Amino acid sequence: MEQDQNRFSPPVRIVVSSRRRRTVAARLRSGVLELLVPSWMPVAERHQWAETMRRRLERRMERTRPSDQRLMERARTLNQRHFGGRLRWTSIGFAEMAHTWGSCTFTTGAIRIAKRAASLPDWVLDYLVVHELAHLEHSDHGPDFHELEDRYPLSERAKGYLMALDRLHSELA
Ligand SMILES: [Zn+2]
Repeated sequence: MEQDQNRFSPPVRIVVSSRRRRTVAARLRSGVLELLVPSWMPVAERHQWAETMRRRLERRMERTRPSDQRLMERARTLNQRHFGGRLRWTSIGFAEMAHTWGSCTFTTGAIRIAKRAASLPDWVLDYLVVHELAHLEHSDHGPDFHELEDRYPLSERAKGYLMALDRLHSELA
């Protein structure tokens, strides 16, 4: 999946906003980078901003591209650190998942993490990996499962982070 010719370069749409007074803002909407500019801003300056924001976004996408290698390394480290290295899985990788952050097939030991999770902060991504690792031993969300999950010290914080994020998305939708 690591092909340089597939470098992410989003189309840019400039939206003139009468509500904006001073600053520009950018948002990504269905793969299009929307740049909101105040109406007084000269056209040349709008285009300059569009270029700046596009480069900034490209750099960010580059840094957060889903890499299965990165997931494998995180899982190995977290397994050593919190589970004494005893957990065994058959595969771990990013997958297109619209409605969940991850899954673990208990019977086969296959772990999948949602591609969109690649852009989360490392400590939140680590929590998602720990959650699915814990499912290798417990398929449900019972007390035994939580004992494993809570070995990751930032579990509660990460859950709060994801909950706030999901709420934000449903508000924007
Ligand atoms: Zn779960």
